[in-house]
Amino acid sequence: MNENHQSKTHVFFSPTKIIVGLNSASQVAQEVKQFGGSRVLIVTDPGVVAANLIAPIASSLKSGNVDYVIYDGVEPEPPSRVIDRGAEVFQSEGCDLVLGVGGGSSLDCAKGISILAVNKGKILDYCGVDQVPKNGTPMILMPTTAGTGSEVTRVLVLTDEEQNTKNVVFTPYALANAAIVDPLLTVSMPPTVTADTGMDAMVHAIETYVSINATVFSDILAERAIALIAENLPIAWAKGSNSRARCNMSLAATLAGMAFGSGGLGAVHALAYPLGTEYHMTHGRTNAIMLPHVMRYNSPGNPAKYARIAELMGRDLEGFALLEAAELAVEAIEDLLDTIRVSCRIKDYGIPEADLPKLAAGGMKQARLFVPNPRDLNEDDVNSIYKEAY
Ligand code: NAD
Repeated sequence: MNENHQSKTHVFFSPTKIIVGLNSASQVAQEVKQFGGSRVLIVTDPGVVAANLIAPIASSLKSGNVDYVIYDGVEPEPPSRVIDRGAEVFQSEGCDLVLGVGGGSSLDCAKGISILAVNKGKILDYCGVDQVPKNGTPMILMPTTAGTGSEVTRVLVLTDEEQNTKNVVFTPYALANAAIVDPLLTVSMPPTVTADTGMDAMVHAIETYVSINATVFSDILAERAIALIAENLPIAWAKGSNSRARCNMSLAATLAGMAFGSGGLGAVHALAYPLGTEYHMTHGRTNAIMLPHVMRYNSPGNPAKYARIAELMGRDLEGFALLEAAELAVEAIEDLLDTIRVSCRIKDYGIPEADLPKLAAGGMKQARLFVPNPRDLNEDDVNSIYKEAY
């Protein structure tokens, strides 16, 4: 432990079981039985079905004599009604285990359905921290993107359509009984989805690494994730069938999820959320846009960690003073974004400059995420970061 680590207590949350590997999806029937499931609700979205990712899972369930019903009503950045509807299907179909298959949107819906199956009511009743009284029904999560890490986190994210904002249900009961991380399920992701979701994982790793709540556990996981993503995201983006790059990205996303599940997030997420809710951009893309600008703002708050990020991304720090080395991390991220053709300029997305105050007001609604951020922010700072990002 270094000096920073010695001065605090370290807490780490981890799900009971993580299965990672090519073709691990074929083990799903065995896992369902282990957790007492006999009739499974597969929670997914139409894009995942169209990519033919349910077929191999369904065939594993069939050969293990496990019944299943498919609920493919998940929408991106899922509105709460999608979760409430899924819980009704779970009930009316007499299911006993939830199997989430898809990106973070499907996995988060699966979490919500598992919670509602036992606790009843609507998912919006449980928003906030530790508001869920009882553990949900058994749940297995299978990511098909390499991004959110939702398969190993204690949180589910939903859209509150009435308030036009994102909200979270933060509870240990959002942890899956098992996460099956099969990189083969990610091979069909088109380059844009690969880029956006991969950057989401990078943001998780970086935000938790520089967070004031970082622990010895989250640091180890985040460092590994940053290095893996820097090396493998361009390859997975350029050549989706490269199984080594896909394996490394799936692993990195899960490691980053484990890291932020304990170490928390920061201002990148806070300032990205309004872009998502106002303009219906994907979560990964909005995070990617805000990342370099928030990093540049934040770096004086923890230059040593930012310099280490630069090193993990392959930069040579020799001859640079600490603050200059920290700036290299921002440049490394900008180069990575250029390589995978992701613009970090808000104006490139057709958003009028006159909307910036609205974005700042939305960012301020997420001020809880400023607390663990390595540099304090007020409304003026938020305004200048958006201006810089424009
Ligand atoms: P997503 O689940 O919304 O999926 C994006 C698109 O990609 C969808 O159209 C989907 O059909 C498609 N897709 C997914 N896998 C595919 C594949 N293998 N091949 C082809 N198409 C595929 O995207 P996401 O970025 O994974 O998840 C975003 C959601 O996750 C947001 O709501 C975000 O807030 C949430 N999130 C949750 C956590 C958590 O810990 N719970 C963490 C970060 C983000």
